[in-house]
Amino acid sequence: MPADTDKPREECGIFGVYGKNLNVARITYYGLYALQHRGQESAGIAVSDGRKVLLHKDMGLVPEVFSQGTLEQMAGHIAVGHVRYSTTGSSQPINAQPLVFRYARGTLGLAHNGNITNIWDLRSQLTSTGSVFQSTTDSEVIVNLIARYSQNALEEALAKCMIDIKGAYSLLIITEDSLIAVRDPYGFRPLCLGKLDDGYVVASESCALDTVGAQKVRDIKPGEIVIIDDQGIRSMSALSQRKKAHCIFEYIYFARPDSEMDGFHVSRVRREMGRQLAREFPVEVDLVIPVPDSGTTAARGYAEESGKPFEEGLMKNRYIGRTFIQPNQDMRDMGVRLKLNPMRYMLEGKRVLMVDDSLVRGTTSRKIVKMLRDSGVKEVYLCLSSPPVIKSCYYGIDTSNEDELVAAHMSVNEIKSLIGVDGLHYLSIDGLLNIFGKYRENFCTACFDGKYPVEVVKPKESGKFSLE
Ligand code: SF4
Repeated sequence: MPADTDKPREECGIFGVYGKNLNVARITYYGLYALQHRGQESAGIAVSDGRKVLLHKDMGLVPEVFSQGTLEQMAGHIAVGHVRYSTTGSSQPINAQPLVFRYARGTLGLAHNGNITNIWDLRSQLTSTGSVFQSTTDSEVIVNLIARYSQNALEEALAKCMIDIKGAYSLLIITEDSLIAVRDPYGFRPLCLGKLDDGYVVASESCALDTVGAQKVRDIKPGEIVIIDDQGIRSMSALSQRKKAHCIFEYIYFARPDSEMDGFHVSRVRREMGRQLAREFPVEVDLVIPVPDSGTTAARGYAEESGKPFEEGLMKNRYIGRTFIQPNQDMRDMGVRLKLNPMRYMLEGKRVLMVDDSLVRGTTSRKIVKMLRDSGVKEVYLCLSSPPVIKSCYYGIDTSNEDELVAAHMSVNEIKSLIGVDGLHYLSIDGLLNIFGKYRENFCTACFDGKYPVEVVKPKESGKFSLE
């Protein structure tokens, strides 16, 4: 995890479109733009005109990878796109997606969001029987498995793959004549279906449907395969229903607040988190301020519930992007100051409750708290809209290794001293789950409680293959 973020990282966003009268490459470009928060390392689009699949992908943000000219050359009526964030060391063009390959039944392109948890077993089984791998992504293992089952029709091959692969996967697949969406039986990562004119759109988040003017139809169900082609749209349930395990961190931090997934609006859930924080941790303060933007909605919820005034006490510089040159050692403190500036006139002499979404290592929070104190704040309290992150995620989120997670090794009191606040409160797991009412059992909370819904098979030979 880069030193400047101190946040978990989402690893991918996917977007697909099928429509005879649609400019599918351009629509996918805008769809990926809307999903850029889910991955900033590489971007790619594969397009089919019914005969051949064209691919363009590279390292960089969506507008850096695609020019007007590139998009104009990508004519067709089916497209699949992908944005990717990768962990350090595997940020290479070869790992960019979609992965496009030829196999016995033609050409197939794959865009994947999630992590396969039995990847080492599958990879060694496939390698021992002759498979060759080009990239270090688990997505290539899926591609190899599909090719293994090529004696079957594609949807049957996919259903067979779903028996073999364990873990988190939302997939979009393009062939010469179809667009296929697949969601793992637990529904870890989001995936939704929309209608656009006579065509269909599938995206990681509904905000991308809104961006391209599509109407959300529904979420893709856990364990479902949806096929869109000349015949229209059809669905099959590939695996029997499991206990759902939607990633709760999508609601806490990753997903855009204007997205709606699996029946819950992200922004509404975040506001409720803030309200619940106010009930769990009432403090006598003068102001409630967010760490922008991730803490903003929950801070509003806290302010509403507590009756305390909400103020934007930290101003964010919105123009710091991926290519920003990090300050060197002697200028370290400037890193946070470049991004956030305290509004001294508003804060001086005040007791302030600050709301953020989560805390991974605590380094950034410590700097923000120091900045607030330097600006004359009298008392600082910190509320987090996630419970303590004590375990790593193996389902498609980079939460850092367990030894980097401050809450895995320190008590709340110790963390409070480390970051220098007068009070610290994490949202309780129960308080978080209660927001979802009777659906509270439908979520994965493994990074908070270690209850992994799907077993994680560790590599037999470390260093051979890395989880992406
Ligand atoms: Fe999401 Fe945490 Fe579960 Fe990973 S372990 S899927 S981040 S809730």
